Amino acid sequence: MGHQGIVVRVKPDGDMVVEERVHHDDVGVVHEYGQPRSTVPEPQEPLSRRQQAMVASFRAISTAAGKWDKGTGSEGAHYVGSKKNPFANAGMTCGNCTFFEGSNACSVVEGKIHSKGICKLWVIPESSMEEGE
Ligand code: SF4
Repeated sequence: MGHQGIVVRVKPDGDMVVEERVHHDDVGVVHEYGQPRSTVPEPQEPLSRRQQAMVASFRAISTAAGKWDKGTGSEGAHYVGSKKNPFANAGMTCGNCTFFEGSNACSVVEGKIHSKGICKLWVIPESSMEEGE
């Protein structure tokens, strides 16, 4: 029996539809009307299917609506820098997040991002997280 895939379909007007495919392993984002299909890049560490779906969804949202800002408003990612990240010792840092691009940049949150910061959109492989208190 195959896995149930999840695809986020992005329409030209920005609407998004989450499509579940029974017996299909695809997880990714489809841009309609001739735009290339972009699948979730192969993560360095294995992500769960839930996390893969989160990655696909957040990338689709970022494509359709722009990156999140770093603030605490409705459009904000609630980012905190290294000095205010209470979870850094548990491995919950931007540097371990799938969206971190290095050089203080994130593919879904705008602005300068510190490798030891964190935000509410984090997607980090379980193997990179250590037991916290
Ligand atoms: S936790 Fe991940 S999504 Fe959030 S700012 Fe850091 S790298 Fe970007």
